[in-house]
Amino acid sequence: MRKTEEEIKRSYVKRRRWINVVWLLNFTLLPLLGVLYLLFRESEVLSKVIMVSLGAYSAFAIFVMWIIWRCPSCHMVFSRYVFDPKECPYCGVRLR
Ligand SMILES: [Zn+2]
Repeated sequence: MRKTEEEIKRSYVKRRRWINVVWLLNFTLLPLLGVLYLLFRESEVLSKVIMVSLGAYSAFAIFVMWIIWRCPSCHMVFSRYVFDPKECPYCGVRLR
């Protein structure tokens, strides 16, 4: 069944919220983990915790970028550099 324009826009808003979380973490969590790693690299436990957090973040970011950050209509993956497209670059459906 084809989605209505309204459903596509609503779905797009939800998807953009997830990619926003990824960008936010990119600029907050990653530098923070970097600093923490420099401070605590002597500690075996803490540096392991930092590595695991980094791994978890990467898995989350990859999941969002490949599974969620897609056109709600044609399901093509948006480029991660496309921040907030007005319309889908593949099928041309209006997103907002
Ligand atoms: Zn599309």
